[in-house]
Amino acid sequence: MTVRGKISSAAPPAGECTETKGAPQHIGEAHCFEALGQRIVLNVATSLFYAVNNVAFELVEDAPGTNWANALRRAKRRFRARDVDDAAAYLEREHFLGLPKKTSPPPSPGLRPLSTLELCVTHACNLACRYCYGRNGHGDNPLYGSAIAHMPVEVAIKAVDLFWAGSGKLKELNLTFFGGEPLLNLALMRTVAEYCHAKEKDTGKKIHFSVATNGTLLDDEAVAFVREFKVGVQVSIDGPAELHNRNRSFRDGTGSYDSVIAGVRRLRAGRKTRIPARITAAHGAMDNLEVFRHLTDLGFASVHIEPALGGGCNGAELTAEDVDELLRQEEAVARYFVESIHAGRYANYHGLVRHLRDTRVVHDRRRHYCGAGRGLICVSNEGGFYPCHRFVGVKEYCLGSVETGIEHAGRHPFHALHVDARPGCRECWARYFCGGGCWNHAHTAHGGLERPDEEGACRLLRRQIELAMAVNAALDVPDQAVISGIYDETTLPHLKA
Ligand code: SF4
Ligand code: SF4
Repeated sequence: MTVRGKISSAAPPAGECTETKGAPQHIGEAHCFEALGQRIVLNVATSLFYAVNNVAFELVEDAPGTNWANALRRAKRRFRARDVDDAAAYLEREHFLGLPKKTSPPPSPGLRPLSTLELCVTHACNLACRYCYGRNGHGDNPLYGSAIAHMPVEVAIKAVDLFWAGSGKLKELNLTFFGGEPLLNLALMRTVAEYCHAKEKDTGKKIHFSVATNGTLLDDEAVAFVREFKVGVQVSIDGPAELHNRNRSFRDGTGSYDSVIAGVRRLRAGRKTRIPARITAAHGAMDNLEVFRHLTDLGFASVHIEPALGGGCNGAELTAEDVDELLRQEEAVARYFVESIHAGRYANYHGLVRHLRDTRVVHDRRRHYCGAGRGLICVSNEGGFYPCHRFVGVKEYCLGSVETGIEHAGRHPFHALHVDARPGCRECWARYFCGGGCWNHAHTAHGGLERPDEEGACRLLRRQIELAMAVNAALDVPDQAVISGIYDETTLPHLKA
């Protein structure tokens, strides 16, 4: 394992070897960018990045499409020959030349065992969020087009049994209660949790529970359940009251912010409960820096901002201009993040922290973005299986039902379309840090899994990855270690690819 340190200048000490004769003639796959006031070059083949001086930066930037000797000659017209030779020697030593285009080994042909089940215990909700995809095309009936609200007990039990059977030899499993608003069906959550505990005893497996909630129904009974079954709670909240209430109101139009805060306080009373916050950045309601500051000050363990991209968000989708603005906001957040870590203040912006470790430590290359359709499966309230919650009700992705069983063959594309096999991704410099992006963003952008959402999600992902490298270069090594710890504690189960 190689730890990437901060490399502040490409210029090696005076007098180092400047010999370039016999060097390979072309530079390998590289990416140059500027962020947080630094010029950074990434060697895609080694996944190592370097904050460099202008000479090295421009040499790498200029080299593709020409041979190395020409690039050096051209650079010597702009910079001192000695500086160019020093930078060239440095880049050669760091294997920017001669390494072939990197691909990862072909995946094993089998399917992954199931490790995570999203159980939609209800499709009903007590809120009427402006961007809710569950409402899309269904008028005032926010049930994802379903005829019923709550999941029947027998559906839940069969779903758990099928999930358990699909988990093979895995010993650690995850179950996320999903909705609608899952706490509207707390009785079923309890039944399922008790049933799973009985199965734990029979099978020797361990299951971890979590719930994705709007936070408004965290009353004493819900809090007691969460504590009894050690349920991890992720709360959807969109930031300060004014911003939050713009999109997340009760069905009578009243803002839900105060209810969410009251629920979170109840959950935390007398305990150090770590609560991640999930935010939706939608058209007309985006201020990521303000949201991050506000939720960090409120004590949330992490802030995960999901952009409303593609169709299905009832007109609240981000426009191309919104994406431009988000890119600017991401840089402001990254600056604030560095300031916070330097000042010893806890800060966990998930979009950055996720990539901070990936870009700092050379490890297995990321070939998928999330576990959907591979380790992760979702079951709707009526008992239909889908790759994840965002595909519920999309018939072409249905993976069977609790009656007919899980159609595992339908999971193959989610395994086979890894970044080296996917058009668009296989040429992308960010592929082994990104993993290919959200399948649902691809589906809503192009109606299929093959092509990523180039105009929306890809632009955001690439900038987040660049910013993660820039943050790493701006932090000291002990700070970077702290961040790896934060990552391990707070990464959402469904994003563990
Ligand atoms: S940024 Fe886009 S093109 Fe690049 S790997 Fe990710 S999904 Fe694929
Ligand atoms: S990243 Fe997208 S496809 Fe993956 S689990 Fe999340 S919503 Fe589903």
